[in-house]
Amino acid sequence: VTSVVLFTRDLRLHDHPPLRAALGRSAAVVPLFVRDRAVDAAGFAAPNRLALLADCLRDLDAGLRDRGGRLVVRSGDLVAQVCAVAGEADADEVHMAADVSAYAHRREEHLRSALGARGCRLHVHDAVTTVLAPGAVTPAASDHFAVFTPFFRRWSERSVREPLAAPRSVRVPDGVTSGPLPSRDGLTGMSPGLPAGGERAARKRLTAWLRTGIAGYADHHDDLAADATSRLSPDLHLGALSPVELVHRARRAEGPGPEAFVRQLAWRDFHHQVLAARPHASAADYRTRHDRWRTGADAEEDVAAWKEGRTGYPVVDAAMRQLRHEGWMHNRGRLLVASFLTKTLYVDWRVGARHFLELLADGDVANNQLNWQWAAGTGTDTRPHRVLNPTAQARRFDPDGTYVRRWVPELAGLEGRAVHEPWRLPGTRRSAYGACPDPIVGLAEGLERFRRARGRD
Ligand code: FAD
Repeated sequence: VTSVVLFTRDLRLHDHPPLRAALGRSAAVVPLFVRDRAVDAAGFAAPNRLALLADCLRDLDAGLRDRGGRLVVRSGDLVAQVCAVAGEADADEVHMAADVSAYAHRREEHLRSALGARGCRLHVHDAVTTVLAPGAVTPAASDHFAVFTPFFRRWSERSVREPLAAPRSVRVPDGVTSGPLPSRDGLTGMSPGLPAGGERAARKRLTAWLRTGIAGYADHHDDLAADATSRLSPDLHLGALSPVELVHRARRAEGPGPEAFVRQLAWRDFHHQVLAARPHASAADYRTRHDRWRTGADAEEDVAAWKEGRTGYPVVDAAMRQLRHEGWMHNRGRLLVASFLTKTLYVDWRVGARHFLELLADGDVANNQLNWQWAAGTGTDTRPHRVLNPTAQARRFDPDGTYVRRWVPELAGLEGRAVHEPWRLPGTRRSAYGACPDPIVGLAEGLERFRRARGRD
């Protein structure tokens, strides 16, 4: 038996069920990645993620070469390319990981029938990109959980399959041609602070995190300046790390830190099972239908100020600048800038979600679109009318202003929490910080507009 293993967003050798299954049944295996032009055309080809993708593919190829194999890389129409490679290798089967988006489902069906027509079977493996397969836990009367807490209760009760070791050797049949491996060279527009990607770099980050970070996670994860979260999200997004392995390794360390960390991994599974059940939620409101968002020149100016980090609310501006500089933003920052855009400025969540996808190294359709909707109150938040006050959030999660001073150097001369409200400085001192604009909208005004609009729903 000869098999093709189609890698998608599971770019690793450790804990890879499709690869393990193929190697268990086949004398020769073709590890394949196809740069799918439909994914690029849908706007997912953002420079930060392309750079990490290139790192991951190079690393995967190097890991396979260490084991006697290599990675085959193609680009174009995914179904046509997989069929072509299966033909060149005279393959009997193709193995790949299940995925949740509407596009991934359609693609899988096309692939299954195109391969079937040539006598080749498609095997789709669950629990590769998530800890549990979407649908593994469901409430009594529905196909998915719409509220996190009961989902988490059931999710925690389920056993998680054991992670698999990386293979020792991989034999690739002769005669299968490959395109060039992509590289960072020639890419432009990446964030200057983007880290290196790939499984080996990711595993080093994971080891360091388990050794020194996870123990303090419960106490410090919301502290904007402490940088006390794992930063493993880009590695999880491209699958350089396995979420199954993460759960096992985190649970080996006991205590509130590991528990809180595993809970966040469950949030990731939660959004994946919502999207699997409601694929339209990537583009349309999941629950509360809402279509009175502000549009027009005024709103566009506000959106530009938000994107560029010049809203006049220092913590919002700091977080938006962190996003541009690092291709990543702290979760607390994401929550408060999303609330600010959709509630205080009253702009459609899709505008914010699109901007995030242009920059986030971890930007993915389930986590991004559904977290945006959670923050906007159109999704699974059980308190859709809550509005985060950015100044109160700043005082709570950046109590001495370190985070703001790091990202908004115009305000670096202001000590302590005064940095959160420069507009309160007396006239002469305020003018020293002229480079920092006044707030583009008053919080009371924003709140009033939001309540009026939502009141009409
Ligand atoms: P940690 O705090 O170390 O958490 C560990 C892992 O748990 C993360 O790597 C991530 O995989 C998962 N996780 C944590 N929080 C969440 C959450 N709320 N939802 C789903 N998974 C979570 N996360 C993405 O991976 N991709 C996105 O595109 C994305 N967009 C977001 C947009 C908004 C508006 C908001 C509010 C959140 C978004 N998140 C997204 C969730 C979260 O902010 C990031 O996963 C987290 O900040 C990544 O940093 P970390 O790896 O240090 O997280």
